[in-house]
Amino acid sequence: MSAGDGKPTRGRPSKNDLVAGTKLGDLTIIQKVRTPPGAPGGQRYRLECVCGKRITKPRFYIVGRAQPLRHCGCKTPKADDPYTKRSWYAMHSRCYYKKHRHYSNYGGRGITVCWRWHKDNPEGWENFKADMGTRPFGLSIERKDNNGSYTPDNCCWATAKEQRANQRPSNSKLPTRKASEILPDKPSYTQKQLNPELYGDPTAQEVDE
Ligand SMILES: [Zn+2]
Repeated sequence: MSAGDGKPTRGRPSKNDLVAGTKLGDLTIIQKVRTPPGAPGGQRYRLECVCGKRITKPRFYIVGRAQPLRHCGCKTPKADDPYTKRSWYAMHSRCYYKKHRHYSNYGGRGITVCWRWHKDNPEGWENFKADMGTRPFGLSIERKDNNGSYTPDNCCWATAKEQRANQRPSNSKLPTRKASEILPDKPSYTQKQLNPELYGDPTAQEVDE
């Protein structure tokens, strides 16, 4: 829950306020709530859907746009696990799309997608979902053996940090010294900041999606 969610606003009501109890499709306005500092969209309202879910939305979503909100999202048809599917598509791109910016690290090195998961296999997506499950938020697909292909045995969901550790084992062999040993009067600088060319830019390292 973000700051301001569900808390009634202080101060006088304005004549522009939407009235509590007003029904808008499946939604009923409960009350105006505090807008978190800096948040766009003007006034915010707490609403209850007929399904029982309560949501907080800016006024614009409720009355300000051509297709205003009329339910909490419970009537939106569920896409077929789009977050997981993105990973499934992306591994094919890395392996088979020669213009992919990291193709040289994947398809270019002989990394492939197994037939069981392959998009040319009519059951590829279903098999992938069955083997890998839903992609946990913030994780991406990792090949345990970095030289191996995308197969059920070789893949798991991992954090970007875990993937980098797997991809760059040589990093751990770099000499590590306390910054204070190098620059006693400037202990706030790290080796990486002092020697960006030697250590490379860690943010530039790519991981699987
Ligand atoms: Zn609902």
